[in-house]
Amino acid sequence: MVERMGAQPHPGTSTGRDVRELSDYDPFAPIAMRSRVPSTDPPNRMRLGPLEKLYLIWMVGGSCDGCTIAVAGATNPPVEHLLNGIVPGLPKLELIHTVVSVESGAEWIENLHMAERGELDAPFVITWEGSMFDETKSGDGFFMGLGDDPATGQPITSAEWMKRLAPKAAAVVAIGTCATWGGIPAAEGNITGSMAVMDFLGRDYRSAFGVPVVNVPGCSPIGDNFMETAAAVILFLQGLAPLPEFDELGRPAWLFGETVHRHCPRAGYYEEGVFAEEYGDKECLVELGCWGPVVQCNIAERGIVNGTGGCMNMGGICIGCTMPGFPDKFAPIYAASPGSFVSSSASKVVGGAIRRMRAITMEDKNMTTRWTEDGAPSGWARYKSEPGSAKKLFYKAYRARQRANKT
Ligand code: SF4
Ligand code: SF4
Repeated sequence: MVERMGAQPHPGTSTGRDVRELSDYDPFAPIAMRSRVPSTDPPNRMRLGPLEKLYLIWMVGGSCDGCTIAVAGATNPPVEHLLNGIVPGLPKLELIHTVVSVESGAEWIENLHMAERGELDAPFVITWEGSMFDETKSGDGFFMGLGDDPATGQPITSAEWMKRLAPKAAAVVAIGTCATWGGIPAAEGNITGSMAVMDFLGRDYRSAFGVPVVNVPGCSPIGDNFMETAAAVILFLQGLAPLPEFDELGRPAWLFGETVHRHCPRAGYYEEGVFAEEYGDKECLVELGCWGPVVQCNIAERGIVNGTGGCMNMGGICIGCTMPGFPDKFAPIYAASPGSFVSSSASKVVGGAIRRMRAITMEDKNMTTRWTEDGAPSGWARYKSEPGSAKKLFYKAYRARQRANKT
């Protein structure tokens, strides 16, 4: 997003009103400025909670806005509940967003200037969507600007805003794989030098409240993963809960600790060595290129929106979109991985044998004790009249072993 405007008196708004003149109670003031007045007491503004209000400054780098769409669909909690301040324990959220804010142009940019000057009347959290461009590679131009410098009239790059605001933010949350790891804009061969927020801010970065960069990956991420993580971080900032566990890459450990394969609804097919041959088949998709066994993602159990959908639930393979190696290390996408040949071949042998044994046991469990001797009296022709003597012997041995287990 590039905002171009000429040099203006500072601070100012596109309506010609000075933002400092806006009243707390002015119902016609832009929404994110309505209740904001420059404070005369800087040290008290950045205290930990309990807070009545928190600003969420949502900015973008190299992004498709997919993360914004994903969060708009979140339900746990819904973003509108946070904006209305009705989630117990959480402050009201004032959203300053590059796309969905009411203000635009100079009024919107003034939000960032106020944050930089420390004039917001509550702490702010930065959520960054998209890759960070390396503006040193942009020559005489720039890859992405966000408003102009009032003093010079020259564009301020998105990356420059991050450099100015990150040290003052209560927390920086990178959303989506572009922001967390670099993602598609950082793929091999790109000319922008795109990188993750962590790459840009560095290993030693800590927010004003001492929090390293929080990473919620996914392309696009699950909206509820972001909302749940943001809510947990805000509870910490409120002083109401400890910071929850994050892994060594800053991912919420409780959301990204398992492979997607472990919770996949098709995992039973994998275990029994049965694989889909084409899209639309119901079996495991590993031979079509699914990377689920090595990818940390919770979409199989959480779904994509309100507990529904998600990749394998909808028939799609896992392409590894939550992982730092995405996309380069998962290319060519839709080709089976070399490792899957070994594991699926082994599964066909071992799982295939287990599947056959299970089929025999299932046949036994589909009969009452009486039917085992006389055959099922079903008119549906589904049941054989009675099992043969070899199967009867097997069933007897199986039950004897089963009873022995009970005692
Ligand atoms: S479809 Fe993918 S994630 Fe699901 S069981 Fe098969 S390999 Fe695992
Ligand atoms: S299952 Fe794979 S492709 Fe789907 S969201 Fe998770 S990591 Fe991305």
